[in-house]
Amino acid sequence: MAARRDSDSRKLLKRLRDTLAAPGKGQDRLNDITHQIADSMATEVCSIYLFRDADTLELCSSEGLKAEAVHNIRLKLGEGLVGRVARTGRPINTPNAPAEPGFRFMPESGEEVFPGFLGVPIQRVGERLGVLVVQSRAAELFTEDEVYGLEVVAMVLAEMAELGAFGDSQGDGGLQQHRFPQVFRGATGQEGAAEGRVWLHEPRVVITNPVGDDPQKERARLIESVAMLRSHVDTMIAASDSAASEYTEVMEAYRMFANSRSWLRRMEEDIELGLSAEAAVEKEQSLARSRLESAADPYLRDRLHDLDDLSNRLLRILTGQGRDTGAEMPENPILVARNIGPAELLEYGRKLKGVVLQEGSVGSHAAIVARALAIPLVVHAERIASEALNGDQILVDGDAGTVHLRPEDSVAAAFRDKIAMQAEAQSRYAGLRDLPAEALCGTTVKLYMNAGLMADLPSLQNSGAEGVGLFRTELQFLTRTRVPRRSELAALYSHVLDNAHGLPVMFRTLDIGSDKVLPYMKPQDEPNPAMGWRAIRVGLDKRGVLQMQLQALIRAAVGRPLYVMFPFVAEMAEFEAARRLLMESVGREQKLGHDLPSDIRVGAMIETPSMAFAPQRFFEMCDFISVGGNDLKQFFFAADAENERVRRRYDTLSASYLTMLEQICRRCDEARVPVSFCGEDAGRPIEAVTFAALGFRRLSMRPASIGPVKHLIRRVSLEGLKAVIDQGRNDGLPNLRRQITDWIARQ
Ligand code: PEP
Ligand code: MG
Repeated sequence: MAARRDSDSRKLLKRLRDTLAAPGKGQDRLNDITHQIADSMATEVCSIYLFRDADTLELCSSEGLKAEAVHNIRLKLGEGLVGRVARTGRPINTPNAPAEPGFRFMPESGEEVFPGFLGVPIQRVGERLGVLVVQSRAAELFTEDEVYGLEVVAMVLAEMAELGAFGDSQGDGGLQQHRFPQVFRGATGQEGAAEGRVWLHEPRVVITNPVGDDPQKERARLIESVAMLRSHVDTMIAASDSAASEYTEVMEAYRMFANSRSWLRRMEEDIELGLSAEAAVEKEQSLARSRLESAADPYLRDRLHDLDDLSNRLLRILTGQGRDTGAEMPENPILVARNIGPAELLEYGRKLKGVVLQEGSVGSHAAIVARALAIPLVVHAERIASEALNGDQILVDGDAGTVHLRPEDSVAAAFRDKIAMQAEAQSRYAGLRDLPAEALCGTTVKLYMNAGLMADLPSLQNSGAEGVGLFRTELQFLTRTRVPRRSELAALYSHVLDNAHGLPVMFRTLDIGSDKVLPYMKPQDEPNPAMGWRAIRVGLDKRGVLQMQLQALIRAAVGRPLYVMFPFVAEMAEFEAARRLLMESVGREQKLGHDLPSDIRVGAMIETPSMAFAPQRFFEMCDFISVGGNDLKQFFFAADAENERVRRRYDTLSASYLTMLEQICRRCDEARVPVSFCGEDAGRPIEAVTFAALGFRRLSMRPASIGPVKHLIRRVSLEGLKAVIDQGRNDGLPNLRRQITDWIARQ
């Protein structure tokens, strides 16, 4: 029986392949296909529904339904049984279709109701293309073999569609997949707008031969490629640093899949039914993807991701298509990827005009790099990596977190206006470069920049920043595959100081943990990493790395002033311990007879509300203080900065938060310790002038914000704004945004 099933299925696939190879119009091909499938499966009806746009399916061909219904029946995603198959990516097999929830009788398709219904998705690795349906007069369930066989046929149809085999078949004359305009709503990773052409970080593998002629040959190809894959994984494990045991753990999971008998067996079964080796890999990959989309368990999701990545590697081995497909990077490239590591993003560097990630997160390393490179970034753009094709026109609106793929002309025109306005503003700001950020009341605010990469350094001159108010040293650790050596770090910090040409650079010691997980560090699996073992807590518990970093900083700054600050100080004792460690390192250098920095200033970051209430001695002990508003705000409001659902819920300009900031500022003034604000809010002009009005005389921000912030400070009186804030608080207002923005608008 199984042998007969296999040979029927193979015959059908070969007939489909011949249909594909024969010259002809897309519609004729589809009609041939539905006829052949109905014939082969002995069903009364076979229909193909394809997506007309992102959420509408259209009946594009049918054997058995009324001819007038073709191109006239349309269903929304989720509508009727067909829409449900499309939405869930799972087959529906029922002996009694009218009794199924959501069943919709469509009189336009004919008088008769067919109780036997089997619908399978036509999909290609997570990309929905349509639904293939067979219906029968007999009220019987289709057998497992029939379901499996129809899935294999759907797989081949997906590949054919991908190759453009049904080009003129859909409605108004073309299969619209990958052609129609689409809008993706994600989240802002980095503000700014960009227009360009899609450049896929990992181009999709193109399968030109979904049907296999000779199962034995295909099986041999598969087995040979799986053997190569296994040996690649073994080599990767052998080459991985033994210190990087977590990387090895991931690789071990890969090895487990690569050696999985059931994975191989399923692919061999697909081949027996007539698929080529690569189509078999892709069929199983598609299945894993649709499971991935509905899996809630993070462990299972991780493993399905591993399987997905492994399938891609296997496909590359089978097809000989590497990452480098020979495609040329377009002008104004906008990188589109499921996800990307910081090192890979850095390799592209400033060539990119924008980045869109299907996954990623606001605080991810890639986002940090994109911010440092001042490239607009949208994260969480669901499905973008499978919908976009190399060379597609694309608009990235980093401010709104939206992406327009293949936009309508009118959308593109409006977008260009926005870009032009931004460019005009930038040139206006460039004119302010050498002017002080002096408010109308005569108060001057010093503007510094945040940095962390070598790529940031040229901005020090271009932006007119008065120094680096926050140098995030963890970026150098995040972009490597192993812990950097002390000598490497010393050379790097020295290079930073050379490029600062005497301007101060506040080096913040490693802030790892939370969202910043080193690829070579054991994941801690903490219930709430942002409040977990991170930053100075790690530094004080694992002193070796912190000591090494402090020594590198001391050596880099020989003969010049050194500013070191410690992140995430939540208690005075932590600062004291860290400072002691620094002083011990200085002592050790001295003992070794090494030269020292000309001056050493030790600062703390205030990132937890606890420090707003710290003993006055803490403020007196610090040589300088920097308020890390990103963390401080998330802990003040207990709203995770990484959680899309809550992160925008609370406003920086709420009266209570501003009052705490003012208190920090006042306490620093009383202790005569300079204080700056270095979270992202410092780069937002309205927030920045508000902080200045509350007493902050130093703000540190990304370089691109210096112009807009300076522009606004120079237009207002900080005393005037302070009066507005005080009035709002006296009136008992919980939020002052309206009062502040209205007042600014009137200036
Ligand atoms: C902050 O929390 O505001 C800060 C500057 O630190 P991070 O690097 O975590 O953004
Ligand atoms: Mg922080």
